[in-house]
Amino acid sequence: MDCIFCKIIKKEEPAEIVYENENFIVIKDIKPKAPVHLLVIPKTHIFSLKDIKEKDKELMGELILTSQKVASQKKLKGYKLLINVGREGGQIIDHLHLHLLAKDINNKF
Ligand code: 5GP
Ligand code: ZN
Repeated sequence: MDCIFCKIIKKEEPAEIVYENENFIVIKDIKPKAPVHLLVIPKTHIFSLKDIKEKDKELMGELILTSQKVASQKKLKGYKLLINVGREGGQIIDHLHLHLLAKDINNKF
């Protein structure tokens, strides 16, 4: 499958990895729209939030907890979590991911 995030997960394409565990990889966005702009990506290829099923409940909880953990590790005082859903919602990459955005390490947005 020609998916850039799957390739990054398999280390077939480079990325600045800031955190990784069994189920997630967290990378720096290649075109940051905020001083801190990370992408929290499940290692399972799910196209979109539209495709989430009952069985994905635990993974979605882990997605939020992983985001919280990375924000805490980076000592962010405030941040935004964003998921673009569908082309009309601004989703460009068809592999579910959550944007973690912050102004900088110490300030709120
Ligand atoms: P979307 O619009 O799908 O929610 O967000 C996709 C994000 O992935 C964009 O912010 C874009 O800059 C980022 N992105 C696209 N290709 C790459 C890549 O190859 N590496 C990294 N690190 N980020 C990427
Ligand atoms: Zn993928």
